[in-house]
Amino acid sequence: MKEKFQGIIFDIDGVLVFQERVYPGAAELLDFLREKGIAIRILSNSTLKSRKSCAEKLNSMGFNIYESETITASFATAKYLKTLNPRSCWVMLKGEGLGEFNDFNHVTENPEYIVLGDFREGFNFQNMNKTLRLLQNGAKFIVMITEIVDNSMGGVELTVGAYGKMLEEAANIEATYIGKPNKYVFEMTLKTMDIEKNKVLMVGDKITTDIVGAKKAGLRSVLVKTGEFDESDLDCDIKPDYIFDSIKDIRKLFE
Ligand SMILES: [Mg+2]
Repeated sequence: MKEKFQGIIFDIDGVLVFQERVYPGAAELLDFLREKGIAIRILSNSTLKSRKSCAEKLNSMGFNIYESETITASFATAKYLKTLNPRSCWVMLKGEGLGEFNDFNHVTENPEYIVLGDFREGFNFQNMNKTLRLLQNGAKFIVMITEIVDNSMGGVELTVGAYGKMLEEAANIEATYIGKPNKYVFEMTLKTMDIEKNKVLMVGDKITTDIVGAKKAGLRSVLVKTGEFDESDLDCDIKPDYIFDSIKDIRKLFE
């Protein structure tokens, strides 16, 4: 079953870990791949984490991951924002992810860009209405991820994409979305690998983000039936190249 993959991109939640628990064999698999000379990247739709805090968290759980191998939605969004050379921005985000935006001019009055991440309790009546008015007055809108609900914190909660879509509709404008399944974050990740894309594998537990994004970017993909996977997810036109019960089975593709 040996395939000629030279690089592999892992989603985190539901693939390597789930709700603070490491899946058996996950850390060992990454060490095995590293020994084989396979390039490893970690691609997460987390906006709260910076790439540094993301790598630190994984390492504290027993993985051996370098900061340079991790890409979070907040890091990718900051990188994208930089290419726009913004005059000013309001980055609506909490957590370490905010540290990715240190280089920008932060304002909350008439920003050129509004950049929406997980703002936690900041998603309130006052801030949402203020954002609506700023968008109606011409502020440009970047939303870090498309997803509208999140289960990774334990219970289901509304997340970034839900607020993004609401504000887009209310202000009658269009946002730019960055995280999986959007193309930008995959292209950015590939750029750091320097490997032909048909030799790179994406591993995820969600068809709508991981597998759809991989297909759009021209990557081969593995769906693992863990984390947020539900059998009904398979009733759709998007087919991953491989479906495995758990992360451990990925090894088969490399031995
Ligand atoms: Mg996941």
